[in-house]
Amino acid sequence: MNYREVETEAEYVARLETGAEWRSEIEGLAAEVEADAAWFTALGAVSDAEVWFYDQDDYEYYPVTVDEPLEVASCVGNVSWLEGERFAHTHVVLSGPDGEAVAGHLNEATVFAGEVHMRVFGGELERAHDETTDLDLWL
Ligand code: ZN
Repeated sequence: MNYREVETEAEYVARLETGAEWRSEIEGLAAEVEADAAWFTALGAVSDAEVWFYDQDDYEYYPVTVDEPLEVASCVGNVSWLEGERFAHTHVVLSGPDGEAVAGHLNEATVFAGEVHMRVFGGELERAHDETTDLDLWL
């Protein structure tokens, strides 16, 4: 295990722009407030989405695409640096008209409406390639 103490420096709430890309909006907020490490939760609705499932045998992400309106029943993630850019690692549980859920690692989604709470920590978090998992994990 690799851990560190973090202290909250600031907290923000934000409304995401209709028609914008969900994860880019969160990364935009992080850039705007100069967050080098943050944790967030969000909820709302999207008009389409692509979530990824990481296959632990193949070491590959496989996409699951939904091209219809979905509720963002839950969204949680964090912000850290990856290859010189702020990356919002984002997981979601999305639900459709029958209440059934699609969930996973959010690659992209189009915002219908979204509300975010972001807690910004002092210091910086950075990701780098991890040989064992073939994922970009925190240093
Ligand atoms: Zn993920």
